[in-house]
Amino acid sequence: MAAIPGDEAACAERYDGRDRLLLPALANSHSHLAMTLLRNQADDLPLQRWLFESIFPREALLTPDIVASGSRLALAEMIKSGTGAVADMYYHHEETAAAALAAGFRLNFAVDAKRDGPRGQTVDDAVLAAAAALTRHPSGLLRASLLVHSIYLYQPDVYAALADAAVRTGFPVHVHIGETNREVADCLDRYGVRPTVRLAQWGFFATPTVVAHGVHLDAAERSILAAGPVLLAHCPASNLKLGSGIADLSALEQAGVTCGIGTDGAASNNNLDLYRDLRLASYLAKGRSGDAAALPAGRTLRMATANGMRGLGFADSGRIEATWQADLQIVRTDSPGLTPLGDPVAALVYSAAGSDVESLMIAGRWLMRRRELLTLDEEKIRHDANQAARKLTPA
Ligand SMILES: [Zn+2]
Repeated sequence: MAAIPGDEAACAERYDGRDRLLLPALANSHSHLAMTLLRNQADDLPLQRWLFESIFPREALLTPDIVASGSRLALAEMIKSGTGAVADMYYHHEETAAAALAAGFRLNFAVDAKRDGPRGQTVDDAVLAAAAALTRHPSGLLRASLLVHSIYLYQPDVYAALADAAVRTGFPVHVHIGETNREVADCLDRYGVRPTVRLAQWGFFATPTVVAHGVHLDAAERSILAAGPVLLAHCPASNLKLGSGIADLSALEQAGVTCGIGTDGAASNNNLDLYRDLRLASYLAKGRSGDAAALPAGRTLRMATANGMRGLGFADSGRIEATWQADLQIVRTDSPGLTPLGDPVAALVYSAAGSDVESLMIAGRWLMRRRELLTLDEEKIRHDANQAARKLTPA
């Protein structure tokens, strides 16, 4: 690292690019950051039992400090594996937003604006206003979305109020749809239509929306998602681990749905290294369709870069180009597993791992350089996370 001789610009420096690849920072389209603390604590269970018997009792013990600790752990893990932006859906969003700002990381956080009002549940406009104020932070690193967990968790009047708030305020929406067969069957029993259709009837999908999963969708649902400003966050590892199924990426692409790739929370993955999900996404698309040409490396990488960044609200990130954000990563290729390099895009999607990422820059600031985190104290984060995780064991 040295200043370029004769260059007046003090900020200019030279980076030796031999045996290195330069590419945009990755965008993780769907996660629950502080669930890093629940990693490897509740495994080998189907989604409904996993959620209601293992996860929800532990989450009842969450405090703002615990969420902050889990979020910082997630940020450290993502930075070390080439990710520089994430759509998070969790509790205590202020803590996670503060952690992301301190780390220099791009965050689209979800705001839980439901509360019990005098006439039943409604939407708290004060919470939304506070979140909107956060997104006006001069760094430009933050975006806010309205948290709509899923079709199965709330009473019907809450959905109508949330859909109204999304349209009224222009807030994007972050929602899980079509994760399991049971979700679809229960929705058909309760409402007589499938989840995407019911949500559309309430007025969702008119504002930008991140839809996580989409494993169980029919053609009509895919058409609805293709027509709106929607990013479908494909979470292949989580869907496989919870036995939920395999999203039909070929059908989604043919329908014109814009897709990104997410890790989901670390409790159902069990890591936040998006490189593993890139590889899995492409292989599953090929295996499911019986077509080796399905979801080729270039399109897979675009899902995790330009598509993801745009869907998260960072429209000028995801490509390395003049006037675009300096959101980039440098990957080492002088390892046995990346030799010979061959097609560099295939190498990134099919051969590389997050540990091959050497450096990461977001908004022109190095967050990691030569494997060293520059904005986070990795040792302290691991120590605090181990302590916080112990507090989440139900009595
Ligand atoms: Zn999720």
